[in-house]
Order: sequence, then structure tokens, then C-alpha cells
Amino acid sequence: MRIADRISDLGTETAFAVSGEAAAFAATGNRVYPFHLGDINLPTPSTVVEGAARAIADGKTGYCPNAGIPQLREALAADIAASHNTPYGPENVVMQPGGKPTIGKFILTLMNPGDEVLYPNPGYPIYESQIEFHGGVAVPYGYTEGAENFALDFDSIERGITDKTRLLILNDLQNPMGAECSLEELERLADLVLEHDLYVLADEAYFDMRYAGKSKSFVEQPGMAERTVILYTFSKKFAMTGWRLGASVGPTEIVDVIAKLNVNDESCSNHFIQYGALAGLAGDQTEVQAILDELHARRDATVAGLNAIDGVHTFAPNATFYLFPNVTELMERKGMSDYEEFRRAALHATGVSFTTRLHFGREIPGEANRYIRFAYSGINVPDIEESLSLFQDWAEA
Ligand code: PLP
Repeated sequence: MRIADRISDLGTETAFAVSGEAAAFAATGNRVYPFHLGDINLPTPSTVVEGAARAIADGKTGYCPNAGIPQLREALAADIAASHNTPYGPENVVMQPGGKPTIGKFILTLMNPGDEVLYPNPGYPIYESQIEFHGGVAVPYGYTEGAENFALDFDSIERGITDKTRLLILNDLQNPMGAECSLEELERLADLVLEHDLYVLADEAYFDMRYAGKSKSFVEQPGMAERTVILYTFSKKFAMTGWRLGASVGPTEIVDVIAKLNVNDESCSNHFIQYGALAGLAGDQTEVQAILDELHARRDATVAGLNAIDGVHTFAPNATFYLFPNVTELMERKGMSDYEEFRRAALHATGVSFTTRLHFGREIPGEANRYIRFAYSGINVPDIEESLSLFQDWAEA
């Protein structure tokens, strides 16, 4: 088989491989506690389900406009304009089959081969994959461990900027670290963006997934809405990961190009699901709040369980559904320096399944600390408590 050369530059999301391994382990009669995938084991709100069902019954089953149905573009623009204090209209919104497609389409729209793109590492692995697949140079920047959460490592950002840097990817409310930028960090980043004339992808997949405080968007910084595309998704807030609906939100010149990419890729996002999402945005938010309340309880249980373990420390981020515990001491005590050895040993001894730093971008030479990622979106509180007690016994044995 002659597979095209460019495919060798395409990465993947290796967390799915961990899912496969966990499923194989479960299939041989073992109990698995799933902390590995950012999927949600809670039902989609009935407002969305009923809205989509009504649309099917009404015959919304043919093609629809490439950029999305006008009513949803309008409702989403109004929703984001209000939460972002930024004047967006329907012309700034183009629907997508999920949040993920915005990453590749943003890069295709704004990056030429050979351009350099700053991206977070550890970070969502699709950034690295899409930059390199489209012929760009992926330049990582990192985070440092602060007092209460991870903070942007501005040294690595500034070091990474050259005269070839065109784009910056920011995932505030970050996967896998749960990091959240302070206002000062956003201001400093906006200064750099203006100084170096960069365009920005603000991946806001977790903007509405928060348990305290209020999310602030990078586009609120002066001059940033004009040069930023927001990745919006229905996946998390409405527990709709498998429905596949999201949007790219930004300047009309960029949004129009992305709509043209839609024509070439999928024609349009699913027609009746857009009506479901519209009903979800407009309808009663009780079930949406119940999802957040449940995740909040899971966060507290996971943080407490992990921090009780000798040699493990995690922050308790107010957003996302991820924890990124520092396990440097624990791995040392266990005599393990290899992430995969550690992950598999924990899975086989306790059934606790998690991903590690290795699943979130290429490891950067010289990294001293060891981190693993716990996603608590797919496991209930009683199972969290039971599993972390097993994990603690193993860790401290
Ligand atoms: N961006 C980040 C940071 C994510 O963690 C995810 C999913 O886990 C996505 C984007 C894409 O999600 P989806 O395509 O389901 O909207």
C-alpha cells in the first residue's frame, strides 16, 4: 500500500490507545476505574435531546447552510457576545462538527508551510499534529508550577518567538493541566501578540466548565478579537461529546474562509443536531447546572483522594475536569522513571486508568518533574473514592 508521504507528519490522540488498553484489561474480568479520557458519563440535557428529536420529526434531515443554520449562529453569537463582553454577530460564527475541526481549519487558513506556531506543551496533542501535518513548525511553550495552579512560562514563550512566528495557540482553562491565566498573564500575552503581529487560536473548550469564579476570554483584551479565533464546543457544557457540534468564532474574513473549508470537508454540520443545540442554549439551564454540580463534587473527591497519597500533589483548578498531579516523588519511591511502566503498573495493580504527560505532546528535554493526568468526567464519586483508596494502598506499599 502506498500511503502518501505527508501522513508521516500526522500525529494522533494517544489517550484513545489508553482507553483501548483499559478496555482490554476489563475484558479479561478486571475492574477498571476510568480516569483516562475526557468523555462524560452523564446524559445530554433533555432540552437538547427533545429539540433534536423534534427537528428530525420536522424533516430537518437534509443539507443545511455550510456555515450553519442562521438561528443557531445568531443565538451562539449572542451567547458568546454576552459572556465575552465582545460584539459578535452571526457573521462571526461558523458551525463545525465538534470543537476539534476548528484547530486544523484555523491553521489551514492562517499558516503557510514553514511558518512557526507557538503551542502549549503539555497540551492537547492535536495542535502539534495539525501544525506539522500542514507543514508548519510546532514550537512548544510550557507552564510552571505556581502556588495555587500552573502559570504560563513566559520565558519559554518569549524564547520561542522568532521572525517566522505567525500563530499562537492558547488553551486557557487548559487540558491537561487545568491551568487558568490571570488577568496579568492575559494582558502580557496580548502585548506580545501585538508586538509580534501574531494571530491567535483561543481554544475555549472548557470556558463554561467551571465551579467557582468567572471565565475571562483572551478576546476581551484590547485588539485581540480582531486577530483571534475562538474554538467553541457543545461537547462539554451540554455533555454532547458524541453528537459532534461546535463552532469557530472570529473575524468575518477568517470565518468566511473556514466556511469555505466546510464546503470542501463535510458540506455542513449535522442539520437536526443544530436545532438540538439551539434548544439547549435557549432552554432551561437546570440540567446544564446539574452537570456542573456533579463534576464539582467529583473534582473535590478526586483532589482529596490524590492529595492524601504520600508523594502526590495536585492543585484544585476551578475549571475543566482535569487534574495534573505531580507524581515525581511517588515514581522515585517506586523506582520507576518510565511513564508507561508506571501507568501500566498502576492499572494492573489497582484498575486505576489514567494518562500521563506523554499523552500531551512530545516531552521536552530536561523536564525534571513527572505528571499524570486524571480526568474525572467519566467516573462517579463512589467509584472515585473506592479507586483512589486502592491507588493509595498501592502507591504507599
Ligand atoms: N480542545 C481541547 C483542549 C480539548 O480538550 C478537546 C476535547 O477533549 C477539544 C478541543 C475538542 O473537543 P470536541 O471536538 O469534542 O469539541
